[in-house]
Amino acid sequence: MSNRIRQLQEFVDGIAASVAIIGREETGELVVSACNEHFFEMTGGRRGGTGTRNFPIALDTLIPSYARLDLRKKLQECFSTGVAQELEQAYDLREGTLWWRLSLKPFRHVAGGDSTVLEILITGLDITSKMLLTHELEVSTSRFRSVVNAAYDAIITIDQTHNITLFNRAAQNLFGYDSSEMLGKPLVSLLPEAYRANHSAHIHQFARSPVHSRQMDERNRIYGQHRDGSLLPVEIAISKINVDGLLEFTAVIRDISDRVRLMDLLQKEAGTDALTGLPNRREFLDVVENVLRTDDALSVVMLDIDFFKKVNDTHGHDAGDEVLRVLAKVGTAASRNMDVFARWGGEEFVVAMPGTDLERARTRAEMLRATIEKQEFSHSWSTGKAIPFTVSIGVATRAQDEHDVDAILKRADQALYKAKEGGRNRVETEQVHRALEPSGAG
Ligand code: GH3
Ligand code: MG
Ligand code: MG
Repeated sequence: MSNRIRQLQEFVDGIAASVAIIGREETGELVVSACNEHFFEMTGGRRGGTGTRNFPIALDTLIPSYARLDLRKKLQECFSTGVAQELEQAYDLREGTLWWRLSLKPFRHVAGGDSTVLEILITGLDITSKMLLTHELEVSTSRFRSVVNAAYDAIITIDQTHNITLFNRAAQNLFGYDSSEMLGKPLVSLLPEAYRANHSAHIHQFARSPVHSRQMDERNRIYGQHRDGSLLPVEIAISKINVDGLLEFTAVIRDISDRVRLMDLLQKEAGTDALTGLPNRREFLDVVENVLRTDDALSVVMLDIDFFKKVNDTHGHDAGDEVLRVLAKVGTAASRNMDVFARWGGEEFVVAMPGTDLERARTRAEMLRATIEKQEFSHSWSTGKAIPFTVSIGVATRAQDEHDVDAILKRADQALYKAKEGGRNRVETEQVHRALEPSGAG
């Protein structure tokens, strides 16, 4: 080998790329006319031995079978069209898999008016590390995606301008929108109208805050708005990350409508009498105490069924229960929306009549008493026959500057006692020195 050629060989081997020149035999067979050391290494093919290589080498003997077809196709295309080609190939070597990007560049030979490709220069760059990175990124991206989409909680990400950039499957189920409809849309479109105006300010505040994640307001109920306009009680944890200097926000949203429904039910049950379905004593006192915080008029009525023990003794306890339910039904029907007709306990009932003075309360109590006495209500008795019963009623009203429930109840009870003493089936009132003027309807 001449000095000149050896120098050239060393130069070509020194290039940090695999280089080969591909030619075509008369039979059409593709051959490697020359290549550098890297090209041998790349293909994992046989090495040239002690500096001498017997070029040309059939391409097929160098290129592993799994890579042959693709490479050959590109080479043929390059030969026939004269257009440079590119392809990426993996070569499995003993040390592992290496990825190469191969550029195929045609050498033309011009004869007369025609130009034919006689040879092709292949240069290959090792892109293994880049491919590994890409692969790692793909793995972590698909891991992220599957976690996000498998999550039971809705996950929504917004960008700096508060437009939605991620809307997972649970979010689609919760809000009733497809993610394709929501991407790029402003986040506020998922909020009830009333919260929209202030929402951006809240996000800006969170953006400036030193904390990176927090639970949204735990004291108040938070609502989203479903596509159909209905309110969704939710629990929200928010976080922010800085992406190239821009803040992105992520909300993890949990549908708590089941919990809210249960809480509402428990709360309602805590204030409800099981036998009659009426508000119970606690609920009654709650309402009355709320009225007493204002300056509004308030009358309180106490009812007690006359000789109820006898009803039980004569017709049985179940029939007694039915009488209690009948009284609940009739009493509720006779009440206005703002009134509270409640079971005080046993066969005693109470009515709170906000905005009603003593005289009007007495009139309405008298109407109720008469309705019950005359059985002016429809009910199909389980006994097959109506059970007649009467009630005694005591009425009291709130005195000026009175804020004490007990005192009013005590007067109502005294009036009730008077009604019992006076012969039952009657209404009695207990006067106060200075009653409150009613402000509302009586
Ligand atoms: P009065 O006219 O003086 O009020 O006589 P009364 O018999 O109605 O009064 P008393 O307080 O002596 O009796 C009340 C009865 O109510 C006694 C109790 O067994 C009955 N009672 C209390 N709670 C219930 C209930 O939930 N169901 C039934 N069936 N009876 C009840
Ligand atoms: Mg009683
Ligand atoms: Mg009684």
